[in-house]
Amino acid sequence: MTGNQARDGWKQFIQFAKDRCSAAAFGNWLAPIHLLDATEEEVSIEVPNVFVKEYLIANYQKDLLAFLPLKENGEPAIHFVVRPPKRVEVAKEAVSPSVVTLDEEIADGPDLRLNRHYHFKNFIEGPSNQFVKSAAMGVANSPGKSYNPLIIHGGVGLGKTHILHSIGHYVLKHHKKLRVQCITTEQFINDLVDSLRNKSVDKLKKFYRHDVDVLLIDDIQFLQNRQNFEEEFCNMFEALINQNKQIVVTSDKPPTQLKLSERMTARMEWGLVAHVGLPELETRVAIVQSKAEQRGLKITNNVAFMIAENMCSNIRQLEGAVNRLCAQARLMNQDVSEQMVLEMMRQMMTVAPKETLSVDQILKGVSTVFQVKVSDIKGGSRTKDIAIARQVAMFLARQMVSSESLSNLSAWFDKTHSTILHACKTIEKKLTADDLLKRQVEMVRRNLELT
Ligand code: ADP
Ligand code: MG
Repeated sequence: MTGNQARDGWKQFIQFAKDRCSAAAFGNWLAPIHLLDATEEEVSIEVPNVFVKEYLIANYQKDLLAFLPLKENGEPAIHFVVRPPKRVEVAKEAVSPSVVTLDEEIADGPDLRLNRHYHFKNFIEGPSNQFVKSAAMGVANSPGKSYNPLIIHGGVGLGKTHILHSIGHYVLKHHKKLRVQCITTEQFINDLVDSLRNKSVDKLKKFYRHDVDVLLIDDIQFLQNRQNFEEEFCNMFEALINQNKQIVVTSDKPPTQLKLSERMTARMEWGLVAHVGLPELETRVAIVQSKAEQRGLKITNNVAFMIAENMCSNIRQLEGAVNRLCAQARLMNQDVSEQMVLEMMRQMMTVAPKETLSVDQILKGVSTVFQVKVSDIKGGSRTKDIAIARQVAMFLARQMVSSESLSNLSAWFDKTHSTILHACKTIEKKLTADDLLKRQVEMVRRNLELT
């Protein structure tokens, strides 16, 4: 292969990858790469940070073989140059207080209670939430005609309320005749209590049965252990469904895991149950960029990566980080530097030191970062990825869960004392030489400290 062929090979690879990944992925990961040089032996490329290099290798190693010169060991011959970090300007004119404070502002009058910032267009999609977003858009396009009810469940801060309110806004805009009611379960219960006190229950019942076409209910888990209200809620639910009125419900657990009556659980399972999961790194980077842009804050890809990589347990954390950066950049009248991000993350971590961690939390944290199921970590598989994740879990449990003795830990993991001690020593040793592992372990630790 000549130098020119290698150069063309790189360009063809970029086109090849562009055709296969989302526009967001391309913009975040591939577009920032610059070809520096191409010889018959190797191509030199400049990447904005080490994550892009890892992304390229993890996702395209095999494809690259077809386009580039090869090393003797059969790997693609790429010389990576990591671009030195640059300081960036905050878009000062755009950062006015009104832009910076994107709090839970409620629009559309007190009764409807839709957050005016929650729209489909600023809900960033990735593999973890694509299904929910499509289902929600389907419902918003033809309320009562596609999936009914639609149940959206998932952990805290993963965008359930955002999606719910997006449906509300969309229906209001595109189906002007339909009457939308968006309410949290707690508000529903409070309204019911008030109406009982005011002797206006019939009016309230009539409203929900006859004056609502699309009912959006947030956080149904608050109906648990409220038997008196559950029955009334269930009656309303059935009455609406029977009239083909659309219902969308969010919950922190799947319906079968909620402590609700069988009748209520069965009603919820009539329709479509969709799960919103933890977004992976690529989506988190896109979310950080989008939130920064909404606030008129310019940040480099590197800064977005730093935030997204270190905060992976919920989106609210990511937003909190962007908000802090924005406030600091404005108050200090400074550019956003990587140093500022590091300092901010350090502060966020010291504000909430974690004193009562459980082994379960450690397992979940390791599972998220190492992309291995909790059941596999606890199981007996010796596959390399699982074995490392298991050793890391043991190492962190021993370090971070002060309340558990070694005996308790060995019961938790169903392993002997010496296996646990051996795992801790192995990880300690590896951490001195393996940078990737070190970053992953730090990431789990930081996320545990932040949750
Ligand atoms: P939940 O109701 O699941 O606890 P929220 O809907 O309140 O979570 O989301 C928390 C914050 O994260 C909100 O400000 C929301 O805008 C933001 N958020 C969550 N997921 C996304 C996403 N995919 N794209 C953009 N913002 C998101
Ligand atoms: Mg919510």
